[in-house]
Amino acid sequence: MRLDKFICYSTELDRAQARANIWASAVSVNGEICQDEAKQVHENNHITLLGQVLTPRAPRYIMLHKPASTLCSHADGAYPSLFRGLTLNKAEDLHLVGRLDADTTGLVLLTDDGRWSYHITHPNSGCNKVYRVTLRDPLSTGTAQLFNQGIRLQGEAKLTLPAQLESVTATEVLLTIVEGRFHQVKRMFAAVGNKVVALHRDQIGGIQLDVPVGEWRHLTAQEVMSTS
Ligand code: URA
Repeated sequence: MRLDKFICYSTELDRAQARANIWASAVSVNGEICQDEAKQVHENNHITLLGQVLTPRAPRYIMLHKPASTLCSHADGAYPSLFRGLTLNKAEDLHLVGRLDADTTGLVLLTDDGRWSYHITHPNSGCNKVYRVTLRDPLSTGTAQLFNQGIRLQGEAKLTLPAQLESVTATEVLLTIVEGRFHQVKRMFAAVGNKVVALHRDQIGGIQLDVPVGEWRHLTAQEVMSTS
């Protein structure tokens, strides 16, 4: 990672303060002063700030219950960012593991571990995402089989990967998918002539949402490993 980012991960400094220290010759890498904030470093390098050895903090893994009418983005847009008002230290260092639409509620994962999020979002890894879906029309017979075989979304050539559909009531279902294509759940139901009227993500891998709307908590080590 970049030297300025490494300093942010190892201290309470923000990016601007990290850079200011680098430019002020307060940082050394492997015994030599380094004034290049973009220098690529890793945890095996010996990095000091004002003579103190820096060790990066452990990666963070967080679940958040996304409220409706919020954006999965660090910036506000048509709706406020879901980071707004979150009491999370250095939230800007965390990225979202996949995004939900503004009107979708439920489980969002945040981390600074790029390999973990890549694994969860990559369809080949087979990590399940479970959605509770409310439909405009009762579920038609045959939809579960169609979803299991894979369906063609409008404008796409490649079929969706097999998905599992479980009926809760006539108009409420649990859908399990391993992909995260753009508006995938809404487009899957549109492709069979139905319409999603409410969408909520309940689970990713073995991580089950269990915090109230708008709140977050750290994942346990077992939960972190449950996505592989
Ligand atoms: N599929 C959708 O259509 N929307 C979401 O927010 C998530 C999955």
